[in-house]
Amino acid sequence: MIQTDILIIGAGPVGLFTVFEAGLLKLKCHLVDALPQPGGQLSEIYPKKPIYDIPGYPSVLAGELVDNLMKQIEPFKPGFTLGERAEKLEKIDEKKYRLTTSRGTQIEAPVIAIAGGLGCFEPRKPPIEGIENFEDKGVDYMVRDPETFRDKRLLIAGGGDSALDWTIELSSIAKEITLIHRRSSFRGALDSVDKVFKLAKAKKINLITEAQVTGLNGNGLLKEVTINSKALGELKKEVDHFIPLFGLSPKLGPLADWGLHITKNAIEVDTEDYSTNLRGIYAIGDINTYKGKLKLILCGFHEATLMVQSAFKEIYPEKKLSFKYTTVAGVNTF
Ligand SMILES: Cc1cc2nc3c(=O)[nH]c(=O)nc-3n(C[C@H](O)[C@H](O)[C@H](O)COP(=O)(O)OP(=O)(O)OC[C@H]3O[C@@H](n4cnc5c(N)ncnc54)[C@H](O)[C@@H]3O)c2cc1C
Repeated sequence: MIQTDILIIGAGPVGLFTVFEAGLLKLKCHLVDALPQPGGQLSEIYPKKPIYDIPGYPSVLAGELVDNLMKQIEPFKPGFTLGERAEKLEKIDEKKYRLTTSRGTQIEAPVIAIAGGLGCFEPRKPPIEGIENFEDKGVDYMVRDPETFRDKRLLIAGGGDSALDWTIELSSIAKEITLIHRRSSFRGALDSVDKVFKLAKAKKINLITEAQVTGLNGNGLLKEVTINSKALGELKKEVDHFIPLFGLSPKLGPLADWGLHITKNAIEVDTEDYSTNLRGIYAIGDINTYKGKLKLILCGFHEATLMVQSAFKEIYPEKKLSFKYTTVAGVNTF
């Protein structure tokens, strides 16, 4: 059982920065995110886009901002549970919540900070009959740990950056890798497209375009896929894993059933400290709503900063909190 002071749901920029502000108050944090990597929308949707409205940075790539946030919070040694969705929240006593994730991990904390952004990014699933029977039994919608695929026969489907990047990355560890795309041209970054064509030419990967997976076969575990190709007709291929990477779409998900006051897919908060209607639960960043709300990273940073002050009082009602500048107090780790 993981125990922490503040359990942060969502490792987007706002969840990450919360670790820093909490750390200054000597509060420990653990983050849970459904995605396999930290950074939220910045890592998932626009890692290579420059952001121009982060104070002090005339321009910073979204991916670079995430790297810097990770560096900034490193001294506070936050815990991470990635690739798992926050599923069930119970109040186990007056001062403690217990969260259970989609993979059964349990974390207890007196304070919950929901920094869930637009919600959970759910994979867009291809319309193949019976696909749900093979989920986690050969069908994977995201790559959590590349090592799972070492020496395996993989079929990756998709035409965007994820499909291209993972084909390139996994080509060095998989036994055999095939990339299948329903069109002849790809949507991803030009240099990735280039690399994929070079790998195919060097016979390091198989590339099948203008084709789709139409069927899955196996007895409990996935064994074989049926492919429908414009040029070759129907073919069967033995594989260990089918990885459809058709993008992710956000959904509020399980948070919607926790008894929080929700308006238009966002959690209502009190702007004094971003607390919700449930004691000890706060909501910060894109997931909250209040009069005048702007879904901006810098607004989320501000909300996180005020929120941890209130969280401290919630955890240590008897202690006095003295406010200090980092220029005066420095960054003292645990
Ligand atoms: C293309 C684009 C460009 C943008 N440009 C700018 C810009 O220039 N400047 C700016 O300030 N903002 C910009 N934004 C908005 C900015 O990205 C968001 O304001 C910011 O990402 C919000 O951060 P967050 O941490 O609140 O949420 P997110 O970044 O959305 O992260 C939330 C995380 O919570 C996780 N999560 C949700 N529910 C659960 C659950 N139940 N269990 C586990 N994990 C969960 C999600 O997987 C996600 O990783 C842009 C957005 C987009 C899409």
